[in-house]
Amino acid sequence: MRVGVLALQGAFIEHQKKLESAGADVVQVRLPEHLEGLDGLVIPGGESTTIGKLAQEYGLIEPLREFAREKPTWGTCAGMIFLAKDIGMDRQPILGLMDIKVNRNAFGRQIDSFEADLEIPRLGDKPFHAVFIRAPVATEAGAGVDVLASLDDGKIVAAQQQQLLATAFHPELTDDDRFHRYFLDMVEQNGRRA
Ligand code: GLN
Repeated sequence: MRVGVLALQGAFIEHQKKLESAGADVVQVRLPEHLEGLDGLVIPGGESTTIGKLAQEYGLIEPLREFAREKPTWGTCAGMIFLAKDIGMDRQPILGLMDIKVNRNAFGRQIDSFEADLEIPRLGDKPFHAVFIRAPVATEAGAGVDVLASLDDGKIVAAQQQQLLATAFHPELTDDDRFHRYFLDMVEQNGRRA
């Protein structure tokens, strides 16, 4: 399996390490041609305005859209914002593919970063320890979206819409690799279908 990590800005190295230790070949994507031959793509956390601007500058927006319409694509944190269809009043380049409404920096200054143990039935019984850093949340999800995890107040922090996966937190920053394995399973299944 050959998986890309969008390497314009943010926590791409951490994703790369996790994916490699789970058995994938990883390619850093900075230009449209780097997407060739990839079976899946991770869009890391960082700063979504910067990632969007750089993606635009390097002519990546359309190629990324085409890629993510067919191949498993996972956005974490800033990557979740970049994948979303609706980010409210914010004006910044996004892919606009996933049917979720996302609020950037949803937790404000007081709890700008925090950690929480989430129940994520698809990953098994053991709670997933999630690290949130100036995280977004999804406040709405369309009918075709499966909510994988939410906070006690109902805010959505992990979701899947067919080949699109989004997490508001950073699974690449903990020892638990279940989310990376879950994504690689999506990639494998998609490859089998193709
Ligand atoms: N607050 C960042 C943004 O709006 C996301 C933070 C992150 O990716 N850790 O893009």
